[in-house]
Amino acid sequence: MNHSELSHRGFSTRCVHAGTYLDPVTGGACTPIFSSTAHRFPHPTGRNIYPRYFNTPNQQVVARKVAALEGAEEGLVFASGMAAITTLLAAHLRSGDHAVFQADLYGGTWELVTRQLPRWGISFSLARTEAEIQNACRPETRLIYVESPSNPLLRCLDLAAVAAFARSRGIPTAIDNTFATPFNQNPIALGFDLVVHSATKYLNGHSDVNAGVVVGARTAIERLRQVATLHGGMLDAEVCARLERGLKTLALRMERHNENALRLARFLQTHPAVAQVHYPGLPEHPDHAVARRQMRGFGGMLSFELRRPEAVDRLLDRLHLILPALSLGGVESLICVPARTSHRRLSPEERHQLGITDTLVRLSVGIEDAEDLMADLDQALAPG
Ligand SMILES: *Cc1c(COP(=O)(O)O)cnc(C)c1O
Repeated sequence: MNHSELSHRGFSTRCVHAGTYLDPVTGGACTPIFSSTAHRFPHPTGRNIYPRYFNTPNQQVVARKVAALEGAEEGLVFASGMAAITTLLAAHLRSGDHAVFQADLYGGTWELVTRQLPRWGISFSLARTEAEIQNACRPETRLIYVESPSNPLLRCLDLAAVAAFARSRGIPTAIDNTFATPFNQNPIALGFDLVVHSATKYLNGHSDVNAGVVVGARTAIERLRQVATLHGGMLDAEVCARLERGLKTLALRMERHNENALRLARFLQTHPAVAQVHYPGLPEHPDHAVARRQMRGFGGMLSFELRRPEAVDRLLDRLHLILPALSLGGVESLICVPARTSHRRLSPEERHQLGITDTLVRLSVGIEDAEDLMADLDQALAPG
């Protein structure tokens, strides 16, 4: 089945079949791994194939699959989420430009923006709400970049409103959709131009691949490809094949991530050791209404505020099943304290501005049995 026929099929069907390279030699069900870096030139297709040109079969298979899942025309696969984000920024911004970023960005992106962009002569504004984004835009603004739900407080922006405003001003928009995944949210359908993922997280889903993806319209991806080939952050064929395998089960995994996270959020809400739970699927979350409008499910990420500072280390020390670890989006549940991990390089004042306290705990809810996860949290949160 070709690319355009598949784009009308269901999400799970696209996860399994979109992009697959059917090997004419064996008729095998899986894309073969093409490891060559040297290819016949001139090539019968007229193309010069080279991994750093982002045009080998394994790279294209993964790019097409993610594009099909996001409802985008094309995509590029990178060696990491940060390679994807750096390339996206470099392709859109030059010295003298201005860009607007959501204030509570992923820690790595936050550092890239606040520490590197000024060195490249690019100015930026950080904004929290739709209104702040609009007010921050200037005549020289060339990009609006957001994350929704955000890390680690799971704040959600009205994506259709942000995209409509940006269109009216002719400003390109990009969103990091890592937390939601295309299973729960498709920003292109809401008017966004580019969607970026750390494929290290849910897209691969097994905590054993570092990768990134950007998808969007053909012209936008072409523009990105020109910069990407020079920056060189492409993904190796074997890693592409592993990512392709991970993507085939995305729908199944996300169903369970969504279900488990909602159950754990409700459980933690009633726990005496917990002061507050941040999960967009809870009616008490400040952005629940907007999340319901633009998401099909609320994802596997949640965070919660512990009542007592001494409970933080006790929790991390006592857990048996849930692993204290950085990263997220794998089949196994992982827990971390953002002030010590993703946001440790921020000053205490910067963390305070973002609302990240020392007692905030972030949980990447895996696909284990919810009862076992609740029991593990319960025994680790017990007093004494
Ligand atoms: C992990 C992450 C990134 C960075 O991705 P890497 O693959 O680690 O480079 C970017 N954005 C979000 C939301 C992430 O969680």
